[in-house]
Amino acid sequence: MSDIQEKRREQVLIIGSGAGGATVAYTLAEHGFEVLVLEEGQRHTLDSYGQPPTKAMNLLYRNRGMMPIMGSVPIGYVEGRCLGGSTEINSGFWHRLPPEFLLRWQARFGLHDFSLESLEEHFDWAEEKLLVQGRNGEWPKSTQVFHRGIEAMRWSSQEVKRAASGCVNTNACATGCPKGAKQGVSVSLIPQAEAKGARFLTGAKVKLILKSGGKATGVLADVVGPDGSAALVRIDADHIFVCAGPTQTPALLRKSGIREHIGDTFQIHPMLKVTALFDEEINAQNSVMPLLQVKEFWPDISMGGSFFSVGHLSVNLADNWLETSKSIRQYRNMASYYVGVRGTGHGTVRPSLSSDGEAKLKYELSDVDIRHLSQGLARLSTLLLRAGAKEVYPCVFGLPKINAELEAVRWLDESLPRAALSLTTVHGFSTCPIGERPERCAADSFGKVHGFNNLFLADASMLPDSPGINPQGTIMAIARRNALNFVEHRQAKGE
Ligand SMILES: Cc1cc2nc3c(=O)[nH]c(=O)nc-3n(C[C@H](O)[C@H](O)[C@H](O)COP(=O)(O)OP(=O)(O)OC[C@H]3O[C@@H](n4cnc5c(N)ncnc54)[C@H](O)[C@@H]3O)c2cc1C
Repeated sequence: MSDIQEKRREQVLIIGSGAGGATVAYTLAEHGFEVLVLEEGQRHTLDSYGQPPTKAMNLLYRNRGMMPIMGSVPIGYVEGRCLGGSTEINSGFWHRLPPEFLLRWQARFGLHDFSLESLEEHFDWAEEKLLVQGRNGEWPKSTQVFHRGIEAMRWSSQEVKRAASGCVNTNACATGCPKGAKQGVSVSLIPQAEAKGARFLTGAKVKLILKSGGKATGVLADVVGPDGSAALVRIDADHIFVCAGPTQTPALLRKSGIREHIGDTFQIHPMLKVTALFDEEINAQNSVMPLLQVKEFWPDISMGGSFFSVGHLSVNLADNWLETSKSIRQYRNMASYYVGVRGTGHGTVRPSLSSDGEAKLKYELSDVDIRHLSQGLARLSTLLLRAGAKEVYPCVFGLPKINAELEAVRWLDESLPRAALSLTTVHGFSTCPIGERPERCAADSFGKVHGFNNLFLADASMLPDSPGINPQGTIMAIARRNALNFVEHRQAKGE
């Protein structure tokens, strides 16, 4: 401990400034608490957003976007590491938690006070803060052709609202919106929290949560100074909220010796991408991604649009490069879509034994996941062919293209070979489930970690199970609910 350089005391310390952390910071600052947020990544301005993907990933993503989830099928996963976390690089698609999941989570995890009515005010709040709304004006071409396929299949679908009012189609969601239209929390909640007195310290990576006799007493953090050198700093606190996201929260808690139901139930939405080649120009590289999602097979299977750039296209075609590489020249006539399934496999997060303690991610796809991915590929390919696609290129090794509906529907009954799948995901959760079932929950219904009176969770890790929808809205609504519950309890105690 001799090299610890500083000591401070804070009332509330929040670890992580993403969807959950920014929500808690705003809510507590609004209620008069002194708040310090420690964020591992750096603060950026709109000037540094929207750079080419490799630069943007270096700037805004954890490990430059290289975070494989290991298992019999490795799955590419990414998350944000910057002020605002993954909200800075996400697409802003917005859902409320569907009633089916509210009920399911109540039944399975014994969540208290978790009704549609009680959550409504928190969704309303988040939607107002992030200016969530439907699109004004014409759909981009990649949405129009997808719509044509949906109509032909007569499936139910939804135009998804977004936290991106004033979106002008720069196609830069994944590299940070240079126009400030996408409401990453660094341009929305964080400045508002700062105006209420919350402080955000960037370049501050929490290495360990300190504890003593059922109390979290503070943290040890590496804090990068203006000259680029890091100092190990100890910061004591009365209350700590861990909001470091679905992978880093469990890794940090486990490293700190807090392990009960932590990191044992990592859930994801595994995603299989396909690219469709049309006769007409789509110019998806210059447009926001497709805005419709197919809901006909929800919650098991969803379909929607993917981020598209020539670089991403080459990755999507890489599984069968010898056969597909020539098609890349026709990128103007292409767009990418996905099949996403509500994962039912088994996943874990553990800190690595190396000195940085990086999170090691594992997920084993279930046979049900494989069935749903196969059926999803059959359906999405049929939809795209009906929409006018000449060829559909799935991210499946050895399956270079599908150009006839009868070829596509084969996968309704057969399972894609596990080893041939190239999967990705950007949705991780449930590593520290909340609820009142001691046999499966890490924290109580309001995120208070079992065994502690002053340690709380408010990020994607606390979602008890996979929600089957884009999760940011649900994370923010529950984070606000937890933060307000904290305020109520402190006020009742006269603190
Ligand atoms: C490319 C992409 C697209 C997505 N698209 C959508 C979408 O359209 N709609 C949707 O609803 N969801 C989307 N998501 C998911 C959504 O963004 C996340 O579910 C959500 O942001 C998670 O919130 P969080 O607070 O748990 O974590 P994050 O928002 O990731 O924030 C965690 C923060 O904690 C910081 N941190 C981690 N460890 C430490 C530490 N030890 N010390 C200090 N700080 C730390 C991280 O740097 C990060 O800033 C997308 C995600 C990605 C990556």
